Amino acid sequence: MAFVDSSSSGSFMPSKKSPSMLTWHDPAASIVAARHEFGEHGGVNMSIEASATFTVMEPETMHRMFSGELGPDRDFFIYSRHFNPTVLNLSRHIAAMEGTEAAYCTASGMSAISSVILQLCATGGHIVASQALYGGTHALLSHFLPRSCGIHTTFVDVSDLEKVDEAIIQGKTSLLYFESISNPTLTVANIPELARIAHDKGVKVVVDNTFAPMVLSPARLGADVVVHSVSKYISGGADIIAGAVCGPASLVNSMMDLQQGALMLLGPTMNPKVAFELAERIPHLGLRMKEHCARAMAYATKMKKLGLKVIYPGLEDHPQHNLLKSLANKEYGFGGILCLDMETEEKANKLMGQLQNGTQFGFMAVSLGYYETLMSCSGSSTSSEMSEEERAQAGISPGLVRMSVGYNGTLEQRWSQLERALAKMQDSGSFNTKY
Ligand SMILES: *Cc1c(COP(=O)(O)O)cnc(C)c1O
Repeated sequence: MAFVDSSSSGSFMPSKKSPSMLTWHDPAASIVAARHEFGEHGGVNMSIEASATFTVMEPETMHRMFSGELGPDRDFFIYSRHFNPTVLNLSRHIAAMEGTEAAYCTASGMSAISSVILQLCATGGHIVASQALYGGTHALLSHFLPRSCGIHTTFVDVSDLEKVDEAIIQGKTSLLYFESISNPTLTVANIPELARIAHDKGVKVVVDNTFAPMVLSPARLGADVVVHSVSKYISGGADIIAGAVCGPASLVNSMMDLQQGALMLLGPTMNPKVAFELAERIPHLGLRMKEHCARAMAYATKMKKLGLKVIYPGLEDHPQHNLLKSLANKEYGFGGILCLDMETEEKANKLMGQLQNGTQFGFMAVSLGYYETLMSCSGSSTSSEMSEEERAQAGISPGLVRMSVGYNGTLEQRWSQLERALAKMQDSGSFNTKY
């Protein structure tokens, strides 16, 4: 079935593109070049197709739709758990941003991740994954999938390319899974090299690009599939849970297959009203990312000057600073997340308390990509699914404060709030800086 606009056919094979052959791509330009849908009455915005089901003019058409002959590429829709026009419109823009042939949006980031894995791995399959992953993904791979499907994962440090190569078992491993910039330790993956190692053994590469939309384009660097938690930067409003799977049209079509498709059969469907809201936010995603990144860079630089232990890929002392510089799309920056290592959970909590309740710098909350700064102590929140040992292995110190840097207010105003909180910490003797 060729349902999504596509010239490709046949089964989905790992990419053979060599990264050096790829030309530089600007995701903002690519989004503008994607098809713009007008509303039913000539509205500048697409109309919301809120229908669950679709009529046909002729009785024979139904059969042709179910046989796969007529699909959304020719404006034939069956039922909104399958393709929906408004969800497909958003998906086209996300595919354009990632430079993939196709994409489809889902009800959450976790459903995008689990559906892709279930689509590409059979019972008893083997995955090699980064040991530094979002807590939910880590739990899915280490607990849920072994129990429910006998799919087992070997976790490795993906910055050690030799270890990755050793962990991949040719003929048994089906996927290499990692995050472009890892949560919460901000390790940047060498996507071209990791893709080369995986592809040499016929293994597909799935990259979670939640932390770096616009900044990194993993598919352009060799990844076969890119997944997103759209709940974060792409939404930007901290008001929606959503996800996306980006990759070849053959993958998206296989995931919608009426007999075998993980999206069609497990049904993590995005509501078209939500898809409409999200589509309205894509045009300013680039602007938002630039400001998130610029402020994170400014804070990280100032924090380092104060003698704080700050982890940020934009700083020259970050182990993958040069790597990120060489992989990133130009002019977006180095990401909007920074981590401050306060060493103990007690100090981390004291600082976050001051920053929220003392100086109104930001909110103590998990998640990221909001216009306000969000802060959480990773060890006791989003990475609490991991054991103490696993956290130590992933480099998550108990006092690690993750900050998703917001962009509202002025930079000067926000920095002075941060300085005041640090000064209060110092007055109470819990902290020493060059401040
Ligand atoms: C939040 C997050 C997810 C899960 O996404 P949901 O939309 O919450 O289901 C997956 N990966 C990363 C890196 C995340 O930050």
